[in-house]
Amino acid sequence: MRERTLAIVKPDGVGKGLIGEVLRRYEQQGLRIIGLKMVCLSKVAAEGFYQVHRERPFFQSLTTFMASGPAVVLVLEGEDAINRHRALMGATDPKQADPGTLRREFADDIEHNIVHGSDSAESAAFEIPYFFNALELYPAGGS
Ligand code: UDP
Ligand code: MG
Repeated sequence: MRERTLAIVKPDGVGKGLIGEVLRRYEQQGLRIIGLKMVCLSKVAAEGFYQVHRERPFFQSLTTFMASGPAVVLVLEGEDAINRHRALMGATDPKQADPGTLRREFADDIEHNIVHGSDSAESAAFEIPYFFNALELYPAGGS
C-alpha cells in the first residue's frame, strides 16, 4: 500500500553532518521526500512528540536530547514506506541493528541513534501533522 511516514534526522545526525547521507539513502531507495524542514524543538515540543513514551525511564533524557539542537524532519511517501523506512534505519539499539542500516553505521548508542521513523500507520497519522500541514506537503503528481 502507498504510505506516508515521518522521518527525523535527530540532533546527533545533524551534528555529525549526516543530513545529506540520510536523504540520499531515502531517495536512492525510492522513498520520495514530499515534505522537508529544519526545526529546533523546545523541550515541551519534544515531550509532546514522544508522549507515548512518557512513562518510560528514558523519557526525560530522550526529550532533552531531542531539544538539544536542530533536527531535520521529513515526510516520505512510497509503497510500504513505513516498514521500508524502518528497515533502512535498523533496530533502535545500534548494536542490534543489521549491517548496512543507518543506525548500525552511524549511531553511537540506543538513545543517540541519529534517525526517527514512524512505527505504524497510527503513529504516522499523529506524527506527520505534528510537523506539517497539508500545504507543506508536495506529493508526487502534485503541482
Ligand atoms: N530510547 C532510549 N532508550 C531506550 C529506548 C529508546 O533512549 O531504551 C530512545 C531512542 O532515541 C529511541 C527513542 O527513545 O529512538 C524512541 O524509542 P522507540 O522504542 O520508539 O524506538 P524507535 O522507534 O526510535 O526505534
Ligand atoms: Mg518508536
